[in-house]
Amino acid sequence: MPPYVIEPPALVTLPVAGTEARFPVRRVYCIGRNYAAHAIEMGHDPDRDPPFFFQKNPDNLDPSGEFPYPPRSTDVHHEAEMLIALKSGGSDIAVGNALEHVFGYGLSLDMTRRDLQGTAKKMGRPWEIGKAFERSAPCGPVHPVTDVGHPDHGRIALSVNGDLRQEGDLNQMIWKVPEMISYLSEYFTLAAGDIILSGTPAGVGPVAKGDVLEMSIASLGDLTVRVV
Ligand code: MN
Repeated sequence: MPPYVIEPPALVTLPVAGTEARFPVRRVYCIGRNYAAHAIEMGHDPDRDPPFFFQKNPDNLDPSGEFPYPPRSTDVHHEAEMLIALKSGGSDIAVGNALEHVFGYGLSLDMTRRDLQGTAKKMGRPWEIGKAFERSAPCGPVHPVTDVGHPDHGRIALSVNGDLRQEGDLNQMIWKVPEMISYLSEYFTLAAGDIILSGTPAGVGPVAKGDVLEMSIASLGDLTVRVV
């Protein structure tokens, strides 16, 4: 094998609950406006819009428990989301077969530079500057399906410094997990290592340095992230 001309970047991996083994990450897809109440709070019609996705970078995922307040923004928001980790993929996956491709589930935050995202929206520009910045996806370990099954209902919540800010139920997702996988696979070839962030319930809001974010999903446990 020929030598590399530069040091190859490290493979991004996530912890897997209950084992020393790691989950290697390939791509990160995020769905927008997947809970009706959040779509409404952002000024959109929850019923009429088809699903849409944007991407974060694999190395934006961060299981460290710390979120460094990012540069060039004064309005950084929390979005609590269930993470879906795929063990296989393909194209044109039928809704009925989609769950066979899931390795596990976890907790994650789609941290958003809302001011920069807002400007991008207004100007019809891409969202990366608001969404895909350094360490913008704090997350917890992946819980294998063999341990937790396929959670399709149960409370999802986030508090900031002990005050409840976001609360919903996984059963309020407009596009369910199998539908998201199927839809994505019509446009992209999904593969083992792909991650999907499944959208956030209502109650998104700003964070500040020193805040402690505590997220929970029934059956998947808790995630604590400190803003530094
Ligand atoms: Mn989101």
